[in-house]
Amino acid sequence: MSEEERQALIGMIRGFLRETDAVAVLTGAGVSAESGIPTFRDAQTGLWAKYDPMELATPQAFARDPALASRWYDERRRKSADCEPNPGHLALVRLQGEFEAAEKRFTLITQNVDRLHQRAGSRDPLELHGTFWVWRCTSCGEEREERTVPLPEYPPRCHCGGTRRPGVVWFGEALPEAVLTKAWRAAEGCGLFMSLGTSSVVEPAASLCRIAADAGAKTVEINPQETPLSSWVDVSVRGTTGELLPTISSAWE
Ligand code: NAD
Repeated sequence: MSEEERQALIGMIRGFLRETDAVAVLTGAGVSAESGIPTFRDAQTGLWAKYDPMELATPQAFARDPALASRWYDERRRKSADCEPNPGHLALVRLQGEFEAAEKRFTLITQNVDRLHQRAGSRDPLELHGTFWVWRCTSCGEEREERTVPLPEYPPRCHCGGTRRPGVVWFGEALPEAVLTKAWRAAEGCGLFMSLGTSSVVEPAASLCRIAADAGAKTVEINPQETPLSSWVDVSVRGTTGELLPTISSAWE
């Protein structure tokens, strides 16, 4: 894609943003990549090089070795604490502000578990896959926000004596129903759906863009790589969100 083509596509996205009354944005691990947080599909380093993250992110992995699985999540949590939101996160905060000031709808839906959107200032993102900042007891079900890094033990223990697990949705688990319903409604009711930094292979998040398109919304994707959405969305731009979103979010200037 030439720079000229890219600029033309960015112009189209800015036009869509100006025209719509309701936007829904879905983010994936790519949006945090420029903050230094690796995506699932990036190579693991150091101690973790020999593990496949897809295999650590399952209920079976936790049942097999809760100390290993909780340590892996805690290490990711610790690393994310050292990272800062990047210009892509900040551009989304700005877009939300512009939309809400104009009494238009802006729904941020994220698959990210790192809470960098909230740290940037985004209000009420729908966390489809939970977060590793909250840990839940597998016995009594109590959820607690864990701010201490690192955790004192693996796996962490609840006051009831049970084992705590990270409050994320693992492969093979159901998504939080209320959150998914809100995300679905936002996709069905938006005029523009933007799929940002996600490989669009993990369901049901991957279907949200299709739901929006079928309901008549314009659809946009930003990703340095092609994804299964690239061939049919209205606009697919090759690039990083940290680079492109700041320009796109200045649609009103
Ligand atoms: P993914 O790893 O499957 O895909 C990441 C996508 O981001 C890829 O398509 C890649 O081309 C793109 N990308 C890489 N750098 C980018 C950049 N700078 N700007 C824009 N795009 C970029 O991640 P996914 O689609 O989010 O889905 C997999 C699962 O991974 C999710 O369930 C999510 O919960 C989990 N995950 C989350 C985090 C996080 O919270 N930061 C990190 C790793 C994995």
